Amino acid sequence: MRIDVVTIFPDYLAPLSLSLPGKAQASGLLDLRVHDLRNWAHDRHRTVDDTPYGGGAGMVMKPEPWGAALDAITASPPSADPAVDSPVDPPADSRADSRTGGQVPLLVVPTPAGEPFTQRMAAQLARRPWLIFACGRYEGIDQRVVDDAAGSMDVREVSIGDYVLNGGEAAALVVTEAVVRLLPGFMGNASSLAEESHGDAGLLEYPVYTKPPTWRGHDVPPVLLTGDHGRIAAWRCAESLRRTAERRPDLLPATATVALDGVEVTPVLATRADAGELWTLQQACWLVEALANDTLDIPALHEDLEDVVEGLHEWRTYVVREGARLIASVRGRLDGDTWHVGRLMVAPDLRGRGIGRHLLAFVEGQAPPNARRCELFTGAGSADNLRMYRRAGYRPVRDQPADAGVRLLAKRLQ
Ligand code: SAM
Repeated sequence: MRIDVVTIFPDYLAPLSLSLPGKAQASGLLDLRVHDLRNWAHDRHRTVDDTPYGGGAGMVMKPEPWGAALDAITASPPSADPAVDSPVDPPADSRADSRTGGQVPLLVVPTPAGEPFTQRMAAQLARRPWLIFACGRYEGIDQRVVDDAAGSMDVREVSIGDYVLNGGEAAALVVTEAVVRLLPGFMGNASSLAEESHGDAGLLEYPVYTKPPTWRGHDVPPVLLTGDHGRIAAWRCAESLRRTAERRPDLLPATATVALDGVEVTPVLATRADAGELWTLQQACWLVEALANDTLDIPALHEDLEDVVEGLHEWRTYVVREGARLIASVRGRLDGDTWHVGRLMVAPDLRGRGIGRHLLAFVEGQAPPNARRCELFTGAGSADNLRMYRRAGYRPVRDQPADAGVRLLAKRLQ
């Protein structure tokens, strides 16, 4: 990934050569270039600001140095010569794609008036080959710079929080660090990304501990010392939910409660305590499938309770209760850029009310930001399911499984 940062305080970005971002540069994963905006200011004092039209306090950054800086930087796309940190005359066709070597940069403009920066946005930015940060100072940058840049590159005005800083440099540091650690090959253990706060589950991380087991009279929670991976995973899941509910209830999965034909449907994350009822529901639902497909050779029918518990660890499973009764469930799991949807179940006596359709839309909405498509299996003889999936936008994939009794369906995510 190439990152260009334009600022009037280039030294502010020095921390990016430390620690992991520094290593990413050393390993060639990151090509970071910091530019002094004043190199594109042509008067004796190298002025980059002026008084605001319409009056008011403070100064506004002038458009000319910014326009010249962005023209010069984009004239040297990632594959080209790195030496651009000097004033150049803008090329005649300053908007031609060929100037960016076909790689359209994304201009990130830090501003407290921007869209909030989130982990989801970090993942989106990490997929871009080229970011350019325009660090404002004073009262900000003349708006025409952003409007003009939008003609030749993608632009996002981004806020790192609901407070006001003196300049965009700290925001550029924050965004860069969050983005660069998501680059493939940056983190030694990529799975730690999925488990941490704001990761795939969209929850805060559970508390973490290391040795010694007792410190200043405080014990590590005993379950973590048991070596029982199932119990540890269940404890972590429960702690994640508890912390999120306490500190950031706004992050809890959009429970999207809807009343469907008298049944209130509120999907919540399943826990170990749901396993017994899930197993029962699974048996009931797949018996119906067995009849529709005229076969007992369906894996879900042959699972035992242990398998169901295992599934809770391997998948993000949601359940719906009506009162105390578990009436429906669905689960999702990310593999590469595919969000696998499975075990969509509604109690047989409650079918036909739209609960399955609602759960399907719900689980699609839980797909992590890097998921590009949803995939699911259904029985070739499951006419109702095939109809529902078709209406929801699923289509058979070209390479179908060898088992002719099964259909693999997929849908592209927005
Ligand atoms: N007048 C601007 C406003 O009220 O929206 C604030 C300008 S601020 C003093 C100067 C610069 O700091 C901004 O142009 C921006 O680059 C940066 N900045 C300040 N707060 C920020 C935030 N929360 N997120 C991102 N950038 C911020």
